Amino acid sequence: MKAVVYREPFEVTVDEVDRPAVQHPNDVIVRVTSTAICGSDLHMYEGRTAAEPGIVFGHENLGIVDEVGDGVVGLNRGDRVVMPFNVACGFCTNCTAGNTAFCLTVNPGFAGGAYGYVAMGPYTGGQAEYLRVPFADFNCLVLPPDSSKEADYVLLADIFPTGYHGCELAQVSPGRPARSTAPGRSA
Ligand SMILES: [Zn+2]
Ligand SMILES: [Zn+2]
Repeated sequence: MKAVVYREPFEVTVDEVDRPAVQHPNDVIVRVTSTAICGSDLHMYEGRTAAEPGIVFGHENLGIVDEVGDGVVGLNRGDRVVMPFNVACGFCTNCTAGNTAFCLTVNPGFAGGAYGYVAMGPYTGGQAEYLRVPFADFNCLVLPPDSSKEADYVLLADIFPTGYHGCELAQVSPGRPARSTAPGRSA
């Protein structure tokens, strides 16, 4: 299959790579129909990380379930799904507390995993034709089958929930005036 492969700072190529396969009964393989380029990808692309050549980028992924592992109970071939950027197990202490970005099982020795990202575990990215999704019942959000909202739904992989979460942490809400009292600034 074709995938976006990191070569060196400021160089990525679209290369032929192995198509992912089900490795665990809880995996699904998704045929990617939309994937986004994230500002976080630029940290790798511009050489600010320890990313090794060969990483397939892409953690904002949406597509159609193509293969289903024997242990998956809530997904069927043909389901349209979007995946959060972070890979999580759903059953560890941090996941059950809702802190799935700090999952303790998907990236041993580290808290948290993600697709296609340096130091975030062995999960190949989705800027590719196919993507392996581990713990698929937990990591796939099933969408309505029609494709007309594709460009909206792909925002659910990262940018919309990340921005929403940031606003919650910063206590930003509609109509609230800016805290700054600097001259020339207004709400
Ligand atoms: Zn992202
Ligand atoms: Zn977990």
